[in-house]
Amino acid sequence: MVYLKTDEEVELLRKANLLVGDTLAELAKVIEPGVTTKQLDAIAETFIRDHGAIPTFLGFPNPYGGPFPASICTSVNYQVVHGIPNDTPLENGDIVSIDCGTKLEGFCGDSCYTFVVGETTPEIQRLLDTTKEALYKGIEQAVVGRRLGDISNAVQTHCESQGYGVVREFVGHGVGRDMHEDPQVPNYGRKGNGMLLKSGLCIAIEPMITMGSREINMQADRWGIVTKDRKPAAHYEHSICVRKGKADILSSFDNIEKVLRDKFN
Ligand code: MG
Ligand code: MG
Repeated sequence: MVYLKTDEEVELLRKANLLVGDTLAELAKVIEPGVTTKQLDAIAETFIRDHGAIPTFLGFPNPYGGPFPASICTSVNYQVVHGIPNDTPLENGDIVSIDCGTKLEGFCGDSCYTFVVGETTPEIQRLLDTTKEALYKGIEQAVVGRRLGDISNAVQTHCESQGYGVVREFVGHGVGRDMHEDPQVPNYGRKGNGMLLKSGLCIAIEPMITMGSREINMQADRWGIVTKDRKPAAHYEHSICVRKGKADILSSFDNIEKVLRDKFN
């Protein structure tokens, strides 16, 4: 069942999503070699709760095992998504995708950003840049009158044209009172296919892109998803609202990228 959101509901979604962006910006300040993903998780949980919200990932049920034990997913290097924070210090040259979800005043925020720890190679930087570009190419298609497949196809085409793999098993989704609502938003598909996009449709678009093969495995903890070939993967996600002419991006990378600019300049 697809629920189109009222203008009031869209504003509540924006609040929850901007809190996700601010949480990720807090983490951006402290991501450096030596910090552990468990430390990042503690900072995120405190920040989310201090702002009157609930971390929606904490306790999220798993069809394959126990509930998710943390407030953020931290997927390092060849982990694609759903990495559980741990005590291993991040190292110079690692990349870490941090996916974060909040519930504020009954509505959910969901957004993800892939960070570089210290310095990375041009090759890995290109993977990150391409994944983020693909996200925005998908968002460009998220306008009234287009179809879901137009979004999916834009993401897929951009990444595959650069030789990258597009993960099929995990997809974007509707977002609202529930973190995962209908419809599913795959990162692959055909132009002109799928649901017609209407104003007020709120969805999370989230390309999960691999440097090598798109094949994945599940880790022994029943959460972490890794590339089979152990090559790095990137993940960026925005929650957006379909509008006429131009989508309204409800989450934001602005504060994250401001922190990163200040840190490295
Ligand atoms: Mg997410
Ligand atoms: Mg999501």
